[in-house]
Amino acid sequence: MSALPRITPITPVGLTKTGCEDRPILRERGQREVFCGLTGIIWLHRKIQDAFFLVVGSRTCAHLIQSAAGVMIFAEPRFATAIIDERDLAGLADCNAELDRVVTRLIERRPDIRLLFLVGSCPSEVIKLDLSRAASRLSKSFAPQVRVLNYSGSGIETTFTQGEDACLAAMVPEMPTRDAGSAAHLVVVGALADVVEDQMQRLFVGLGIEDVQFFPPRHAAELAAIGPQTRFLLAQPFLADTARALEARGAKRLAAPFPLGVEGTSNWLGAAARAFDVPAERIEAAIAPARDRARRALGRYRPSLEGKRIFFFPDSQLEIPLARFLSREMGMQLIEVGTPYLHRQHLAEELALLPEDCQLSEGQHVDNQLERCRAAQPDLVVCGLGLANPLEAEGMTTKWAIELVFTPIQGFDQAADLAELFVRPLERRLRLVA
Ligand code: SF4
Repeated sequence: MSALPRITPITPVGLTKTGCEDRPILRERGQREVFCGLTGIIWLHRKIQDAFFLVVGSRTCAHLIQSAAGVMIFAEPRFATAIIDERDLAGLADCNAELDRVVTRLIERRPDIRLLFLVGSCPSEVIKLDLSRAASRLSKSFAPQVRVLNYSGSGIETTFTQGEDACLAAMVPEMPTRDAGSAAHLVVVGALADVVEDQMQRLFVGLGIEDVQFFPPRHAAELAAIGPQTRFLLAQPFLADTARALEARGAKRLAAPFPLGVEGTSNWLGAAARAFDVPAERIEAAIAPARDRARRALGRYRPSLEGKRIFFFPDSQLEIPLARFLSREMGMQLIEVGTPYLHRQHLAEELALLPEDCQLSEGQHVDNQLERCRAAQPDLVVCGLGLANPLEAEGMTTKWAIELVFTPIQGFDQAADLAELFVRPLERRLRLVA
């Protein structure tokens, strides 16, 4: 690191089974067009309100975070980049001493920080900077005021939602141990917008499941205690490492589809209810009003989507639950559903709900996928930012996959908003053509 590694300016920007799960999946390996795991900082720093994310990376990393955040957030951010420069790459500087100095200065300036993440990047991995040792050294220095953890957001062989998985997995060892003799409790795992969490909490209370916590929590001190009595529901389909770490501590995953759309949300809540022996009548009474309201709201958008053909490039790892929702509730035809990684166990309930005639692909070979997409001429393409503009220029209608991660789309009250996200680009294209 240079004599004074820069913290980049903290810019104020404020169940019909189809057998689909057994079907062959096209595995693709080749050039990829995805963001790296640093992107997760954009939503995670808003979620954990007393956490700070210090990327140890290059100017490229700083630009990625600032440009992504600059257009998408309006609150004071809690992230920055300590820039590794040429001297560090040449091995001339003592990176650890410089990192300690940057962190000390940061914590002095921001006494509100309770949890500091050192986020690794491609450059920090290239120079083999041991951020886990740095985190434990700094944690000792700043305990008990600040915990320092680390994870990697590097773009090598990852996709952008893995940043959240790596961050949450790094927090699991920090979760207190729950007494094995205590009653069963529920932990919802995966960052959800606060408004969605509040709605979910009310539904769980309606079901009689009162002991519910969300992970990640809104404040670092509110980490759920974990033990053999923990039952957890994944709210996001990209949390393989986090789930593994929780299971290693005795927690049990409740198998369910993801809470996208009316069907996904009903089944997700139903999986929790059954695990807590909630009678069927109570489940129906608790969810019927919100479910029926959501069904009516979805009805407004179905005519715009029904029969339309959609192609998913692999990007966010949300593709399979989204495809299930669009196919079963909105009547869309799935041409191809690509996903960067397919966790068959976590997605088993989703795969069982997909129609048999949709092509599933895992991994990316962007040229092959572009060829298939052009040949299919779908009505709507869901893809990353880098592919959207060229495809629009070719006359295709696109939806940015990343927008689906930044927007609250889970739960009954958001089901119509989710549908509308797919209707909008189709309407925009109609206006352009008219
Ligand atoms: S972590 Fe790697 S892929 Fe991500 S912005 Fe930095 S250099 Fe680029």
